Amino acid sequence: MSTQPDQLDPSAVDLLGDRAYPGSQVSYGGATYWLERSADGVKRLVAVADDESAFRGFTGTAERRDGEVRFVAQTTPENALALRSALPWLKPSRFGLHTSAGFGDRLGLATPGHVRALNAVGGAINPVFAQQSIREMGRCGRTPRNVLDDATWGAFQAGWTKPVGGDADHLEQLDDIEDTVAARFVFYTLDPKAEVDPEAEHADQATIQQKVEALEWAGLDSDLATFTKRYAEHRIDLEREAIVLDEESVLRAMAKYGPSLSHAMAMYRRLMEKGIDCEVEFAVDETDYPTKPAEHVVVVSELKRLGMDFVSFAPRFVGRFEKGVEYIGDIEELQRDFEIHAEIALALGPYKLSLHSGSDKYSTYPLIAEATKGVVHLKTAGTSWAEALRVIANNDPDLMREVLALALDSFEANRKSYHLSCDPTKIPTDPTDEQVSRLMDGIDSRQVLHVGYGAILSEFRPRLYQVWNDNEEEHYGIIADHFVKHLAPFAPYAQ
Ligand SMILES: [Zn+2]
Repeated sequence: MSTQPDQLDPSAVDLLGDRAYPGSQVSYGGATYWLERSADGVKRLVAVADDESAFRGFTGTAERRDGEVRFVAQTTPENALALRSALPWLKPSRFGLHTSAGFGDRLGLATPGHVRALNAVGGAINPVFAQQSIREMGRCGRTPRNVLDDATWGAFQAGWTKPVGGDADHLEQLDDIEDTVAARFVFYTLDPKAEVDPEAEHADQATIQQKVEALEWAGLDSDLATFTKRYAEHRIDLEREAIVLDEESVLRAMAKYGPSLSHAMAMYRRLMEKGIDCEVEFAVDETDYPTKPAEHVVVVSELKRLGMDFVSFAPRFVGRFEKGVEYIGDIEELQRDFEIHAEIALALGPYKLSLHSGSDKYSTYPLIAEATKGVVHLKTAGTSWAEALRVIANNDPDLMREVLALALDSFEANRKSYHLSCDPTKIPTDPTDEQVSRLMDGIDSRQVLHVGYGAILSEFRPRLYQVWNDNEEEHYGIIADHFVKHLAPFAPYAQ
């Protein structure tokens, strides 16, 4: 059976009530499905088919009318699972080396806006609507399954009928594997940042020697002498140049990343034991120091030697990729960094280069799209949340003032584990409506609100969701406009 929907039967349009999302209507496997929204904002799945057996797996109520069965179901986790089974393009799948973008949605509301942006830019960018790190899920009170289900309903509502991914992002612990596999993610971002040793960046040679001698070599299936021989004076020919690894850089690379390789392999083996269809990214983007070309070569070569099959690698690039603001650093230096890492990825892989952008790095997107020729994964996370706050500012300035006050009060706790350069003292503590409307534009207020999501959601969740529900169209429009700016630079290279 094809995994594409059937052509729509024009007569079926009459079935749609005035509360239906017209774009959601889709026919497949002998049934026609759509999403409706009641006056109080509750969404429900409606479907019609000749026979009730079409709705096996769903839980809801069926009614026979005029020779066909009309079925109504709530948007529960069980029905999300059944919908992914009934409409197979909604079930996350692997994208391999194809161009892809991760959207990240802390609220579970933004996917229809993401779909609009994708449709607007065209091209062959493969979307990962379901993408959230364990850290964020904890702060947002969500489970891996919530993340997947919300993306399923959102993609369905917006009429997305091409493949979707599903990124269990920034997994750091073995247990993270269990929870996300249970939810059926297909893309696993292994992030052993806690095991990367920042001291190795500047340590003297004697300290580096001590560090590499102390590594648990048995777990790395090697020993120091063999390792050194494998890489020292090793030459890698790239498209434009060659990298020759000197012994000092090789040892420093291993002192810095060695423990993280062991930990990543432990997570990888746990994942492989599950026997599921999936792909893996190796990420060290949230570490203190840029990943040097020699380090990229050593890390990736060691992972491959140890048996890790990964589809993308996220190095820590030069400069600063802070949350929700433009790139901070020398853009020409970054361009060279993109180029050399892309060339290494091509020579040693190919695998995709992954840019964990921290969002809103407009100056960097054309550069990495070109350097990788589209063999790239773009990751954005909290920017949908930041943009959603515009809806609050526009429609309920008083609530936005309360949100800001809490974000400022809780900032010291919220900023932990994030790289930020904002100055909260520059933010007006009692802003006018006019100032409220511009809070998401200033770097200081944008970052403070960007990282305040955990505290803000736990305090104001029902009131905030009410505003977003009441202003759904405005919300989708804001998200779509914002994401067009992220995606457009990649569209010409997407493959
Ligand atoms: Zn990251």
